[in-house]
Amino acid sequence: MTTRQQIKGVCPHDCPDTCGLVTEVENGRIVNFYGDPDHPVTEGWLCAKVRPYPDHVYHPDRLQYPLRRVGPKGSGQWQQISWEAAIGEIGQRWREIIANYGAEAILPYSYSGTLGLVQMAWPAVAFGTGWGPAS
Ligand code: SF4
Repeated sequence: MTTRQQIKGVCPHDCPDTCGLVTEVENGRIVNFYGDPDHPVTEGWLCAKVRPYPDHVYHPDRLQYPLRRVGPKGSGQWQQISWEAAIGEIGQRWREIIANYGAEAILPYSYSGTLGLVQMAWPAVAFGTGWGPAS
């Protein structure tokens, strides 16, 4: 049986109008995506950056799992690894850097850019640096 859902949301970018989104999903797959005509400001409009989001989601080259580089930089040689292995390796490297050079040797990459408050705030929360980059 085919089931079609209509899911309303808002664009995650930082524009003041915060465009409304409608995503139609059929059997777990996006079949239609457009601006919400009920949004009081943008009335169904979406910019060219966001209109092709479903193409990003289903692009065959989309990275969906961690990869470890197994050749020289730029050689394009990668090996798929588990999330547990990736997080474990990163944690181990961070612990070594902190032990050898101090925590200030790791630069949290803080930014706001296009992804809103949550994206901007997580490094500050993770590294306990407050708002903005570590000083
Ligand atoms: S759809 Fe485009 S214009 Fe609208 S909030 Fe998102 S990025 Fe901004």
